[in-house]
Amino acid sequence: MKNRLPEIVFATNNPHKLEEARAILDGCVKILSLSDIGCHDDIPETADTLEGNAMIKAAWVKEKYGYDCFADDTGLMVEALNGAPGVYSARYAGEHCSPADNIELLLKNLETVTNRKAKFVTVVALIFNGKEYLFEGEVKGTIAETLSGNSGFGYDPVFIPEDSSLSFAQMKPEDKNKISHRGRAMKKLSEFFVTNK
Ligand code: IMP
Repeated sequence: MKNRLPEIVFATNNPHKLEEARAILDGCVKILSLSDIGCHDDIPETADTLEGNAMIKAAWVKEKYGYDCFADDTGLMVEALNGAPGVYSARYAGEHCSPADNIELLLKNLETVTNRKAKFVTVVALIFNGKEYLFEGEVKGTIAETLSGNSGFGYDPVFIPEDSSLSFAQMKPEDKNKISHRGRAMKKLSEFFVTNK
């Protein structure tokens, strides 16, 4: 008989993230979403670091629902903007802004800037068997002057990863996941589960 896989919550309801995590962690753990455990809370992200926010989300699920859990937080760090928007990437142009508003502000702030270097960083916080762990993934690249592509989300239309001529939004999801910040952090998480099962 096949051993049952350990169940673990991924503190998200984002279907793209769930699909990506399930593909990478296939065979290691069974991933449950927040709605799978009946969690419809608006979990506050009040820390000023990616690590802090990721751990707040994982700890919230562990404390209120009792499940082992992992959570992610991502930021786009732009060199010429001293690392902005960073931890505030989702709300760069304001509290209820759209991804298009964020991109518009980013391109405006870089209008006269020639150094277009940037990186995406993802931190995954894990609470597993009573211990806390952090995993980090990053991808370096540049911010384009104009938008291209319709795939993906967020800043994808203006982010050109290193060694590519395509923006993330012009890539197939599986090609993006292979090199992306989140893909790399999730890969480290899957290696952890392979050695700690
Ligand atoms: P989150 O922590 O995954 O919610 O990411 C915070 C913000 O970073 C998102 O709202 C997006 O604006 C941006 N972001 C995160 N991951 C990506 C990505 O893969 N492509 C483009 N933008 C992203």
